[in-house]
Amino acid sequence: MAYDYDDQNIFAKILRGEIPNKTVMETEHSLAFEDINPQAPQHVLVIPKGAYVTFDHFAAEASDAEISDYVRTVGEVARKLGVTPDMASGYRMLTNAGPDAHQEVPHLHVHIFAGAFLGRMIDVPKQR
Ligand code: AMP
Repeated sequence: MAYDYDDQNIFAKILRGEIPNKTVMETEHSLAFEDINPQAPQHVLVIPKGAYVTFDHFAAEASDAEISDYVRTVGEVARKLGVTPDMASGYRMLTNAGPDAHQEVPHLHVHIFAGAFLGRMIDVPKQR
């Protein structure tokens, strides 16, 4: 399986510093920033710095150092937001991959939603 990465996607431009972002945290291999169109009171995106389209692409081809950095960054963002369950709230993390999931930006990103009761899981529409 060959993954085709489009380096003109908006998150690639953010990583190159061509457009601004509101950074929440940055590590050697990962960047977390606020979503420009938040769907919850707190909505942060976490992306790897490497050129990966989806989670399955990342899991297949990223180095162990990139994977551990990324997973630890997602957890650290939740702690930074103050929304871990031991802080009496909680959060949802989600990643969209491909057309059925309505992935808009073809660079892997985990969404972290928090700051309100988020309801149960997902709502699947009858039509696309
Ligand atoms: P997805 O549908 O999972 O691909 O989500 C893409 C997300 O990227 C959406 O929630 C957008 O609001 C967000 N987004 C698009 N452009 C930007 C940007 N320049 N800065 C921050 N978030 C963005």
